[in-house]
Amino acid sequence: MTQTHPFVEIRHAQKSYGKLEVLKDISLSVERGQIVAIIGPSGSGKSTLLRAINDLDPLTSGEVWLDGLQVNKSLPHRQYENHINEMRQQIGMVFQHFNLFPHLTVRENVTMAPKLLKKISDKEADALAEEQLDHVGMLERIDYYPSQLSGGQKQRVAIARALAMKPKLMLFDEATSALDPELVEEVNLVMKKLAEEHMTMIIVTHEMDFAASVCDRVIFMDKGLVVEEGPPELVFKNPTQERTQVFLRKHL
Ligand code: ADP
Ligand code: MG
Repeated sequence: MTQTHPFVEIRHAQKSYGKLEVLKDISLSVERGQIVAIIGPSGSGKSTLLRAINDLDPLTSGEVWLDGLQVNKSLPHRQYENHINEMRQQIGMVFQHFNLFPHLTVRENVTMAPKLLKKISDKEADALAEEQLDHVGMLERIDYYPSQLSGGQKQRVAIARALAMKPKLMLFDEATSALDPELVEEVNLVMKKLAEEHMTMIIVTHEMDFAASVCDRVIFMDKGLVVEEGPPELVFKNPTQERTQVFLRKHL
């Protein structure tokens, strides 16, 4: 009998750093093509949860599933390495601080992982880079170095680099919060475009307007727990939990 899983499923995620319990029994699921925003105060565990999804920061207990496969599967070392490499190729991640390789051009940043991990030819990799950079409006800068780009442009390249692996899921952790305000919109527009193309995305953000306009569902986290979740029009306009109300009063 085949069991049907949600596309992304987190089951009873718990994470402690020593005595500090950062995630307390979080369960959530995301359907294919859904766009979910995670909001909440600083220190509530949002980044820890995102990093747990590709097992960069392994959970203390709990399971993460993607498209029917358990990401954080317990396996002997060598098998785990193979397994997690495969899984991570399917999960694109964009962080607050664009982690482009400074000594590589935009082209080399985008082609590196596909060449290394998918063993494609230079020609195929170039075509892939051109396609993805065009998608984020950065094709003209293909031979620039990161230092020659604005923050918004770097972040768009970081998105293209993640997309070049053809991920099933994209994770964004405050992708715009280190940017000057005038550069936020260009990155948001790229994320909106991905949303229109039905990329499955989990977006940690403190931009409530953006979350409201792009996301199908909003999850409010506080102190390692999901306090409230629902469609943006409900969570933003009629939050039922007092902690959500207090947070939104400060951030809306
Ligand atoms: P958020 O992204 O919501 O601001 P984080 O997930 O970054 O929250 O952090 C949640 C809590 O976990 C914070 O109290 C933070 O100090 C703690 N924390 C995060 N990473 C580590 C770590 N590597 N070691 C110890 N504590 C950590
Ligand atoms: Mg964070």
